[in-house]
Amino acid sequence: MTSESYQVFLSRRIVTESKIFDGGVLVKDGVIEQLLTREEVNNLVIENDGKIEVIDGGNSALIAGVVDSHVHVNEPGRTAWEGFRTATSAAAAGGITTIVDMPLNSIPPTTTLMNLKIKASAAVGNVFVDIGFWGGVIVGNQNSLRDLVKAGVVGFKCFLCPSGVEEFPNVEPQDLEHAFAELEGTGTVLAFHAEIEEDNITLRNNIKKKDPEEYTTYLETRPPSMELNAIKLINNFVQKTDVRVHIVHVSSANVVPMLEEARRGRLSAGNKSWRGGVTAETCHHYLTLSSDQIPRGCSEYKCAPPIRDSDNKERLWKYLLEDKLDMVVSDHSPCTPELKCSNNLEAWGGISSVQFGLSLFWTNASARGLDLRSISKYLSSNTALLCGLEDKKGAIKPGLDADLVFFDPDSTFTVTSEIIRHKNKLTPYLGKELQGVVKQTYLRGQLIYDGSDVLEEPRGNLLLNKFVPT
Ligand SMILES: [Zn+2]
Repeated sequence: MTSESYQVFLSRRIVTESKIFDGGVLVKDGVIEQLLTREEVNNLVIENDGKIEVIDGGNSALIAGVVDSHVHVNEPGRTAWEGFRTATSAAAAGGITTIVDMPLNSIPPTTTLMNLKIKASAAVGNVFVDIGFWGGVIVGNQNSLRDLVKAGVVGFKCFLCPSGVEEFPNVEPQDLEHAFAELEGTGTVLAFHAEIEEDNITLRNNIKKKDPEEYTTYLETRPPSMELNAIKLINNFVQKTDVRVHIVHVSSANVVPMLEEARRGRLSAGNKSWRGGVTAETCHHYLTLSSDQIPRGCSEYKCAPPIRDSDNKERLWKYLLEDKLDMVVSDHSPCTPELKCSNNLEAWGGISSVQFGLSLFWTNASARGLDLRSISKYLSSNTALLCGLEDKKGAIKPGLDADLVFFDPDSTFTVTSEIIRHKNKLTPYLGKELQGVVKQTYLRGQLIYDGSDVLEEPRGNLLLNKFVPT
């Protein structure tokens, strides 16, 4: 065994998706080589006296770095909202070792190969964690989709209702026909913002009479039927294509049985993709917050689809634990404070939380009696699977990158603006006490967060097949 390149990470609680054990993770050149029992570690260290770097996490659990597959970095173009350095620094401090950037809110959006190159040029050398990229499907860009697949985007995202930014127009059924035809056979995934607007004049007139600062006024403008109508449309395509389909940020629990039905159809037709190629995520805010707790005039809670009532929240948890929802992500979508005005109808919709996703999930999951394996499953391995990153990321398993986090599940901390590393500090979690503290974060075996600081040098990679700087 040659000396310099070997490390062993020790913990009394090493967490994989299937077990929690006392032992070590042997790492060679940034890649996990072997999982070892405590006895095997002791023998190895004695045999290689002083030649293996031993990193002992003490009482902390050792978990796989979180893969957050839904993050809006907004750079280039809206860098006052967020940027690669700040978003990935927040991620590193939050135990996240891979983020996947959404194609919209940056200018240009990631809808052509040239636009991907522009984004990649802005990211290279500025990311503290590894980063993948979603491409976008918008009206008329179907001829760019295969180029983007070849360049290594993890998949595509489209909107069925206005996205909030004019450079990312939503698609209609005929655009989806083109997109599915292009994507068939590529193995990629098409993700949907699944809401369709309804032209309900009575509802619109009623809203005009209500207090726009009340969260419930906003909530009324986006009823669960918007999500249901979108899933109906998507399900029509699911039957006609083998392209993997993913629903981002499920808010209304009502849609889950419809997704189950679509999945059953695919599986009985012999589809071999993970989950029959029909997957869905929900977000930390839908599992943590409920509409009745949201104070008047506080649009940091505003997102689309909206946070619904506590009964809905409980149903989302039930479906998650029944594996009818597959993963939990942040949908970190920040903006400047001016855009978060007290008028909930006019404020920008988006919640900032990438740094706190792991602890938000653990706060809830531990209170519900789940153990640490739930983190590995819902926050790391399933998100890696969605993005086709399972051969590199998302688990403590030989052959995968040594993206590792020492996590103290028994301690708590309070979210204060001083510890927030997002560019803009507005978040609904300010002042909240969360369970589970990230002690150290390692990216491919290298320390990137030491419990108080993120290392100065960004060492993250762009997860693309090829990168040609513009
Ligand atoms: Zn989003």
